[in-house]
Amino acid sequence: MLNKAFIDEMEQKLLTLKEEIIEQFMSENEDFKEMVEDMSIKDLADVAADDIGKRQLEALNQHEVKTLRLVESAISRIHNEKYGKCLSCGAKIPQERLRAIPYALLCISCKSGEEKQKRHTSQEE
Ligand SMILES: [Zn+2]
Repeated sequence: MLNKAFIDEMEQKLLTLKEEIIEQFMSENEDFKEMVEDMSIKDLADVAADDIGKRQLEALNQHEVKTLRLVESAISRIHNEKYGKCLSCGAKIPQERLRAIPYALLCISCKSGEEKQKRHTSQEE
């Protein structure tokens, strides 16, 4: 089990990362900025879920959108107490890997296996 202090630290990192990505989106895209101006950062989690939000997100940098989804997913895994477990095989993801990539969802061996399979698609990092 990961200790709580470590998980708190990762959650803080994830939340900061999320704010940075959203701020980046707002500086790149006027429409997105208008759409989210009245919301708090906290509510933005729901933006990707609704239709208008989806269309707005399509106009944005896809790499960042993908990262934002991974960040969201990692945060919800913290809340479900599944954070730090490989999504594919259930093995514990090493803390050093999580420190480097707080939104990593796969352990290193599953990750490299996935890269072999989908060499031509873009990866999470
Ligand atoms: Zn794995």
